[in-house]
Amino acid sequence: MKILIDNGHGQNTPGKRSPDGRFLEFKFNREIAAGIVADLRDKGYDAELLVEEDDDVPLAERCRRANAYSRALGKENVILVSIHANAFGNGSEWTKPRGWSVYTSKGQTKADLLADDLAMAALKYFGKQAIRGDFADGDIDYEEGFYILKHTISPAVLTENFFMTNEQDLQLLESQSGKQSIIDLHVEGIIEYLSR
Ligand SMILES: [Zn+2]
Repeated sequence: MKILIDNGHGQNTPGKRSPDGRFLEFKFNREIAAGIVADLRDKGYDAELLVEEDDDVPLAERCRRANAYSRALGKENVILVSIHANAFGNGSEWTKPRGWSVYTSKGQTKADLLADDLAMAALKYFGKQAIRGDFADGDIDYEEGFYILKHTISPAVLTENFFMTNEQDLQLLESQSGKQSIIDLHVEGIIEYLSR
């Protein structure tokens, strides 16, 4: 199984930062993505960064790269996880929404199983109050027509790892233990999915 880890945005992407500008999403996404890939490789899995560049790679090109793997290896033999930090409001002021969430494309696909496994791992590390989504109906993921989810042919999910526009969440995003837990939850969730 080829495990592709995507890091959203680039150093040239406007916005995508904390209201005070001290936290840059592209940098965080890359740090987390690199940590996930390194750990999965240490454990013997075939993991790879989808984007090696620091500049923004357009979504169409990222999907083209992912789909090239899917066509070469078979669509059942590739998964993609796109790493992000969430934002709320106009970007220039601190806001209340916080927490971790996972997104899939619309409809039931294998991506929903991957999303479930990631959510269960997130629950283990951060507790129920930190997870956005509805545990009650058994459907924890949000379904959105995000480009990278819609235009990739293998199972793909996108995680929004807490809010860079919330002061409490940002403390977690900037802490070593917070970042390590975010890396660990992805590694554990992915391995759980692969054992299905
Ligand atoms: Zn993002």
